[in-house]
Amino acid sequence: MSQRYGMSQRYGGISRIAYFSMEIALVNEIPTYAGGLGVLAGDTLRSAADLSLPMVGVTLASRAGYFRQKIDSLGRQIEMPQMWEPAQYCTPAPAKVAVQIERRTVWVGAWHYCVEGSLGAKVPVLLLDTDLPENTVEDREITYFLYGRDASYRLKQEIVLGVGGVRMLQALGFRIGKYHMNEGHSALLALELLNRHAYRQRDVRPGEPSYDLPVVRSQCIFTTHTPVEAGQDQFDYGMVERVADGEFMDWREVRKLAGDERLNMTRLALNLSDYVNGVAKRHAEVSQRMFPGYEVHAITNGVHPHTWTSEFMASVYDAYMPGWRHEPEQLVRIDQVPDIAVWDAHQNAKQKLLERVAELTGKTLDPSLPILGFARRMTAYKRPDLIFSDFGRLREIARRQPFHLIMAGKAHPNDENGKHLIERIHLHMRELAEVMSIVFLPGYDMRLALEMVSGVDVWLNTPLRPLEASGTSGMKAAFNGVPSLSVLDGWWLEGCIEGITGWAVGNPTVGDEGNDVQDLYGKLENVVLPRYYGDRAAWIAIMKGAIAKNAAVFNSHRMIRRYATEAYM
Ligand SMILES: *Cc1c(COP(=O)(O)O)cnc(C)c1O
Repeated sequence: MSQRYGMSQRYGGISRIAYFSMEIALVNEIPTYAGGLGVLAGDTLRSAADLSLPMVGVTLASRAGYFRQKIDSLGRQIEMPQMWEPAQYCTPAPAKVAVQIERRTVWVGAWHYCVEGSLGAKVPVLLLDTDLPENTVEDREITYFLYGRDASYRLKQEIVLGVGGVRMLQALGFRIGKYHMNEGHSALLALELLNRHAYRQRDVRPGEPSYDLPVVRSQCIFTTHTPVEAGQDQFDYGMVERVADGEFMDWREVRKLAGDERLNMTRLALNLSDYVNGVAKRHAEVSQRMFPGYEVHAITNGVHPHTWTSEFMASVYDAYMPGWRHEPEQLVRIDQVPDIAVWDAHQNAKQKLLERVAELTGKTLDPSLPILGFARRMTAYKRPDLIFSDFGRLREIARRQPFHLIMAGKAHPNDENGKHLIERIHLHMRELAEVMSIVFLPGYDMRLALEMVSGVDVWLNTPLRPLEASGTSGMKAAFNGVPSLSVLDGWWLEGCIEGITGWAVGNPTVGDEGNDVQDLYGKLENVVLPRYYGDRAAWIAIMKGAIAKNAAVFNSHRMIRRYATEAYM
């Protein structure tokens, strides 16, 4: 079969790692991502391509994207579909596979997107698509809305991703050595592998497993991203048996692997993977406590070097450390770059951001003032409103040492709390208008993320511990010489060297985290702003500290090398 297909001839030879993710941020124009998980997946594939690691990505086409965000005059989020046309960026893959959903045959096609590395290696990505004429109108929409609709819709998507994805790889002639599940959404892939390794019925003695678990486990890697049980994908068995009937084996076996009460995708992935990891050291510890009996390793996330560096800073690095795109460790030599070159590159990025602010909001910000940036999913645990806890104190600080605040972020359409946070921020903007300029930029996406992390002066992050599994936007900021002012959680516990790479909010000791609000105000008032206003050379030293001691380490090249040697080999 593989002879017939052009693509499989090109990709069939070597054994690859299949990287499965519900969302992958390929380029900004392709809206198949919602946030950090998708950006991490995209950065993983970009680094694999740069380092010539044989991988293939598998995700959904998500034809209607996540959503396009608008904000009305009262600060209310308006959501609209963000349709995109796969044929514009991808080629159709020459295969079609079938999965069973609600006892119907649903056909799954795929689009082939190519991630090209800096040395020319190519990593293919398959975007699975059920929008085919042979499917019912309803089934054609299974691969439309990323994280949309209800639980049964999500389960159908996960059947397409996990089961359809494994079949598609096979139909296209890929040879797969390992299957990497980026979060639990794709865990049904492991059940599909189990089906392939079922013993013949007459060989199974009563009470013994009817599948070759060790073989499947030796092929699977699971990266967990969710430090709370409530955040994990779980489905009622009643619904699962109705939707997935005809697809899976013995439900008794499934219950043994995925939990008795509900089908828990995290459990399933844990039980069917030989290698399990969290995305930062602290997150791995928290996950280890959540999942006693499993060994949870830690591989701290990273971001892709040139995707997340402004054109201005990139040309400074190109001039002084020309190998940095392939080997970002070279950024440890940033001290050989004259201060003025780093400062000027940052001012250019700042100017570019301010032009974007003017375009999106009509507001003109003063480039001589320090700018704080905060952008991420608008959801309760990220606490985007923490900085507004004490208006009196905030006004006092801003009056003496003025600064701007630029914010952005989407709330999930079903997250009423998150949407309320966006409204409240807009209210605070008006209430504080006479002492400080605060702007909220609509439509947070990869482009806006790069403009913000490179154009602000300080990157702010104030999540509720220990819920920030890793966090990656602060790493992007570091690539642009922008230090973080952040709660000690996720990657920042490993990245923060006080006063050298940025500043900590709160206390690192578990159980004695201190008072985040007081500490945030204290650091701003007494350390960060005085340093910005008082001593340019000392400020640039911190910018360089972020580059040398954070960007050189917290990049996805380092991350993927660790996956290669510790998980894939
Ligand atoms: C990097 C990125 C994120 C993740 O940022 P966190 O700091 O991990 O919350 C989310 N959305 C977009 C568009 C990004 O580029």
